[in-house]
Amino acid sequence: MSGIVYLVGAGPGDPGLLTRRAADLIARADLVAIDALVSPEIAALVTCERVHVGKRSSAHTLPQDQINQLLIDEAKKGKRVVRLKGGDPFVFGRGGEEAEDLVRAGVKFEIVPGISSAIAGPAYAGIPVTHRDYATSVTLVTGHEADDSTGVDWDALAKMHGTIVFLMGFANLPVIASKLPRDRHVAVISRGTTKLQRTVTGTLADIEQKVAEAKLETPALIVVGDVVKLRETINWFETKPLFGKRIVVTRAREQASELKRLLEEEGANVVQFPTIEIVPPPTWESLDHVVDAIANYHWLIFTSTNGVKFFFERLTHKGKDARALAGCKVAAVGDTTANDLRAHGIVADLVPDKFISTALLPLLESDQRGIRTAVIRAAEGRDDLIDELRNRGGEVDLGIAYQTRAAEGTLEGEFDMVTFTSASTVDNFFAKVTQTNGALLASIGPTTSEAIRKRGLKVDIEAAAASIDSLRDAIVAH
Ligand code: SAH
Repeated sequence: MSGIVYLVGAGPGDPGLLTRRAADLIARADLVAIDALVSPEIAALVTCERVHVGKRSSAHTLPQDQINQLLIDEAKKGKRVVRLKGGDPFVFGRGGEEAEDLVRAGVKFEIVPGISSAIAGPAYAGIPVTHRDYATSVTLVTGHEADDSTGVDWDALAKMHGTIVFLMGFANLPVIASKLPRDRHVAVISRGTTKLQRTVTGTLADIEQKVAEAKLETPALIVVGDVVKLRETINWFETKPLFGKRIVVTRAREQASELKRLLEEEGANVVQFPTIEIVPPPTWESLDHVVDAIANYHWLIFTSTNGVKFFFERLTHKGKDARALAGCKVAAVGDTTANDLRAHGIVADLVPDKFISTALLPLLESDQRGIRTAVIRAAEGRDDLIDELRNRGGEVDLGIAYQTRAAEGTLEGEFDMVTFTSASTVDNFFAKVTQTNGALLASIGPTTSEAIRKRGLKVDIEAAAASIDSLRDAIVAH
């Protein structure tokens, strides 16, 4: 078995700009060497053995020749090695030198291009690197040592009148500014394509001062040329409604991703701070009883996606599959719950409009005599539904599929807003965080708002309907 090294571009920062090929190779690698510029979200995709290389991460850093030797050695052991680099591996990424080394060592390799920050950074700043009216060429230049030793032909650059993108030039901005005509338009783009992107524009005469005032941070690109003027019109990313806002999402990690995605679409920098955690129940007894007796029920009621998840885990554990439900009618509270059932091959017979279990009651038989129902839900769920079905003469079993408990972890840094999606997220959040320092408090609905007000705090934003979409709308409107 022969190993292989993939020199893979991870894109400029936005995890959405990772190529499908890169994601696929990361998922199937035996070892991933992660470069300093690779964004944390992308590094988090790595599940196999990893080494961090590059000077930004203090731990486990290796010099370039040792990195190359490591890749070669591991590939020779038969491993699939991914060398993950910021942007594109062949754009100031030393991918060329590494490929030469691999050829010399007789190791098989492939190159996976990535979206370079040199193009994507300007794009996210609203600057097209070429434009029929402003620039017919774009030149990528190292600004590393912008003195004459690097062989940059400054006179030629000055004459070209195209766009010039300097990489690794931030520290040498003054030198770069002194080499080109002072009236040229320039943009400095810091942390391009990330939630922390910041852009400063000016001319080469005043950019130094503006950048110093703005306290920009690396990594940063310097873009010189008339195309910079287009930012005034095209600036689309930094103008998103929630751009630059740090928003805390307090849902359990398992459920936070949808709200996180919706807020990120609007430009927010979302911090996940799960206050509650979904864990298996203290005992499987009641759920197992339901699974064992499944053929005896007329109705199965699922009140949450977690209920669906744990139910099917137990069903599988008992050697059964969806066919076991053949004789039952199925009700699902919430569209997401219904969708999760569908993923298991079950189309719910009943889905109430409202996301609350008692919304099922008007839809179920008013005479429940002779009807056997199993309700699958959390240990701490409400009993209203079960009580009422029993009142109507029904026979109801409760299958406890999971429980929620306070999650570990602390919240660091400043934040502009905290979102709450249930009363329990409020209680658990304030059990850990005592100071919100004037951050806005956003609530999904009346019950949640109530829990906030009980603490003597003001609800700044409340969703019109109790849904994640509606919460997003209320936040954006605010
Ligand atoms: N191969 C990379 C570039 C590596 S050189 C690519 O194609 O993007 C490192 C330089 O890239 C940094 O000094 C900086 O100038 C630039 N850079 C990389 N990521 C950046 C980002 N997110 N925002 C701004 N500049 C970035």
